Amino acid sequence: MSKTAVAIVRYEKPVESVRKAVELCRGLDRMPAKARVFIKPNIVFWTRKVTFPKWGVITTSRMVEDIVILLKERGIDDIIIGEGIVGQIKDKETPAHAFESLGYNLLNKRYGVKSINVFEREFREVDLGNGDTLRFNADILDSDFVVDIPVLKTHAQTVVTLGIKNLKGMIDINSRKKCHNADPEKNLNYWVAKLADLMPPVLTLLDGIYTTERGPSFDGRVRRSNIVVASADVLSADMVGAKILGYAPSEVPHLVHAAKNRNRSCDLSDVEVVGEKMEEVASRHKYTFPYSQDDSLPLPMEKMGIKGLSYHKYDLTLCTYCSGMNGVVLAAIAFAWKGEPWDDVEVLTGKSMQPTLGKKKTILFGKCMYQLHKNNPDIREMIAIKGCPPEPKSIIKAFHQAGIEINPAIIENADTAPGFFMTRYEGKPEFEEAHFTVT
Ligand code: SF4
Repeated sequence: MSKTAVAIVRYEKPVESVRKAVELCRGLDRMPAKARVFIKPNIVFWTRKVTFPKWGVITTSRMVEDIVILLKERGIDDIIIGEGIVGQIKDKETPAHAFESLGYNLLNKRYGVKSINVFEREFREVDLGNGDTLRFNADILDSDFVVDIPVLKTHAQTVVTLGIKNLKGMIDINSRKKCHNADPEKNLNYWVAKLADLMPPVLTLLDGIYTTERGPSFDGRVRRSNIVVASADVLSADMVGAKILGYAPSEVPHLVHAAKNRNRSCDLSDVEVVGEKMEEVASRHKYTFPYSQDDSLPLPMEKMGIKGLSYHKYDLTLCTYCSGMNGVVLAAIAFAWKGEPWDDVEVLTGKSMQPTLGKKKTILFGKCMYQLHKNNPDIREMIAIKGCPPEPKSIIKAFHQAGIEINPAIIENADTAPGFFMTRYEGKPEFEEAHFTVT
């Protein structure tokens, strides 16, 4: 049986560590001469309002520049960095600010590398078989070679988010919503598993300079890990990445689907690890946020003694816009708690939650919940937040109507909230801002 190589290297030195990883796995062997190369980093979030923790959330610019240098050494001149940062689709300034801040414009001056916001580019429908279609960015489809550089991190919904899942940033918003649909068979894991199927040849580089528990965003717990994983086979890279984060690939549903789709095993028997030993760099990273036993409240809120509220644990159908607001709303609720039980309020999110019989007030969070339950006779008092994405004003109004006096400023300034997480990193020199710039 032929095995695919996955390299694990300690990140010790700019350029050289990535060079070693790429050479060990022969990661650029399939790249044609004079190829048009598309680099896909992971910029899962950006805000212009505050400085926020990028460690373990966003691909380091250090690793992006490292691979650009290796590509240039091989005579590659046509290099594009592309990302689709979720925000308001029409907001062109925030992605431009991200690219500037991350040093991509300097990469342009120095190496001629172009950066694109995929929401300003063409999307093309791709048939993924079995009647499944998604709309992908045309630039990545038309490239000759892809360098996929996710962060080595866990994900609260998909357990890990590595090479395959990173490609979700290449599909349009409607396709992203489709991935989070309520079909129990064709669920998020089913769709994510297909994202790499029709890509050009891919070199996957897992950026583990920082690794994250309870990712994918700034509210997770970050470690300085100094690992780089590389492979010319994205599934093999992801299976090894999952192991390094403490999960057997069989515990990661989208990797199970992806292996099945490729007639491969999840037990790593067809993978050859080169470089560092997996067991020596692996450490368990938790992925899920803890909730009460019946999943009706986040554990910290249960511990605060909050009563009269059920805010059920997010499920796979909650997509990025609602997901982004969810944490902020929970924080606002925690601040609003004054020790007096609320009036038996239930909050439903995503696309498939069902109301609990007998609850006095039911908040339907987002357009999907409203559409699903607008005529549900089991709901006694319906309070709907109808938008997609849900508007701050409607969120505030709904919770106030339910008797939960959340502070409007927290919701209205949701994009400044990430700044509060910076205090976690004060006085910790291992978290280097310089990894997110080009000098
Ligand atoms: S309302 Fe929320 S869950 Fe529904 S499509 Fe919009 S963002 Fe996704």
